[in-house]
Amino acid sequence: MANIIDGKKISQAVKDEVKAKCAELASQGITATLAVILVGEDPASQVYVNNKKKACEYCGIRSLSYELPADTAEDALIELIEELNARSDVNGILVQLPLPDGINEDRVLDTISPDKDVDGFHPVNVGKLSIGKKGFVSCTPAGVIQLLKRSGIEISGKECVVIGRSNIVGKPMSMLLLKENGTVTVAHSRTANLKEVTKRADILVVAIGKPKFIDASYIKDGAVVIDVGIHRGEDGKLCGDVDFDSASQVASYITPVPGGVGPMTIAMLMYNCLSSVI
Ligand code: NAD
Repeated sequence: MANIIDGKKISQAVKDEVKAKCAELASQGITATLAVILVGEDPASQVYVNNKKKACEYCGIRSLSYELPADTAEDALIELIEELNARSDVNGILVQLPLPDGINEDRVLDTISPDKDVDGFHPVNVGKLSIGKKGFVSCTPAGVIQLLKRSGIEISGKECVVIGRSNIVGKPMSMLLLKENGTVTVAHSRTANLKEVTKRADILVVAIGKPKFIDASYIKDGAVVIDVGIHRGEDGKLCGDVDFDSASQVASYITPVPGGVGPMTIAMLMYNCLSSVI
């Protein structure tokens, strides 16, 4: 039976470290400020935004909230971001995704100054990650690296397989594992013989977006399995992209859903907000 990687505990440790550093900075008169922009009334987005604001409050990061109606014009949103870019008292800017239909997400994200892009989605930050330069890193994959490191799991020299090649999870995940000297393979929807590929993995990161897709038959004995997926079933319960009951029979370490990767995303956002002032 696999060891459970406790994302709640590790994310709490990250937030407490950020909180301690923020308190130290506050005593020098420095406070990080995050501007959070929500367009529309999507209930899931409202929950995410509230959780981010609560985490800011916990860590001692000031948050500014901009809640705009769903029919906000793209140009008005761009204008707001430009204003926030110019404000010296704002260090981080976050636009909650998805944006309502009709707003060009790429144009909006590209408007955020790379120096304030705490989500790490701006092409400049993505480029920096790919050439190994310091910049903001997408929070979810950055959180996965922390889960591995803080669980004492060696990445260097290991066969790492990432399933999924999205811009916010799969691709930055592969870059980060490469940076940690893993031997990285990225699998995706067009990968032939997926099981053959995943069974090579010492570390398997699953970000497919399909509930319980990966079971024990995809996993090498003793592999570390990180489940990025998050889904709410018809019974109201959360599950991941990995069939936990099956996978935990063969894995050496595994992240649960909930309580694995999920809480790390906000913790790493707090870390990025802190980085924006140091
Ligand atoms: P996405 O839909 O953008 O990408 C999914 C990727 O999976 C694609 O690259 C696709 O090629 C690959 N894929 C799809 N079907 C496949 C198959 N049958 N075999 C192999 N590869 C396949 O999704 P995403 O944004 O990367 O998110 C992935 C999952 O992670 C989702 O469940 C999402 O909800 C979750 N997520 C969680 C967090 C968090 O904070 N925990 C953050 C972001 C995303």
